[in-house]
Amino acid sequence: MVILEHKEIRAIKDYAKEHNVPIMQDEGIDFLTTFIVKHQIKSILEVGTAIGYSAIMMAMVNQDIHITTIERDEERYLEALKNVKKFGLEHRITLIFQDAFNVKLDGKYDLIFLDAAKGQNIRFFENFEHNLKPEGYFITDNMNFHGYIFKDPDTIKSKNLRSLVRKIKEYHTFLEENENYTVEFLNVGDGIAVANKKNR
Ligand code: SAH
Ligand code: MG
Repeated sequence: MVILEHKEIRAIKDYAKEHNVPIMQDEGIDFLTTFIVKHQIKSILEVGTAIGYSAIMMAMVNQDIHITTIERDEERYLEALKNVKKFGLEHRITLIFQDAFNVKLDGKYDLIFLDAAKGQNIRFFENFEHNLKPEGYFITDNMNFHGYIFKDPDTIKSKNLRSLVRKIKEYHTFLEENENYTVEFLNVGDGIAVANKKNR
């Protein structure tokens, strides 16, 4: 799928670069939007809105898509609000300004996209698992963590980095060993995991 380089999209990307907001790479967005088309995804829960870039890109796939997205950083949430309005998507994108761990939802979604704190994915997964429909998908970004995941943790000098790499590996194993899901790890963008909930 071709990504339209909309003037306003360009502006969001420029803002992200300028303010060091880690929005999804083109390759990752391309994968997500293609996935949404292929699997006829209509309802999406996103953890980690940042400034609304990925939510807007997903919402623009087609008019039937509804997204609920959670962000805990106020400045980013406010920027996301502005961006969503700019695209006239406020009726299809619901923004929640809250720490995701304090959010308990009743809705059921076709897709849950985890793109928040890399080290917390097991907890995010567990917090929102009941919100995924049978046969729905968990998609997780940053599974490769800029390639650190392929290094021997002992060669990583920073303690924080080492701990983060361990947590991502733990999440990788957690997904692999989860019998309720069929999981694929893709070398797309910064590494994407697709976990498909079995129907049972
Ligand atoms: N999906 C976005 C990028 C998200 S960056 C895009 O591609 O456009 C990750 C975001 O997750 C950051 O803005 C960070 O503030 C947010 N985040 C991290 N932990 C969170 C939590 N526990 N609850 C809500 N948001 C969180
Ligand atoms: Mg990401």
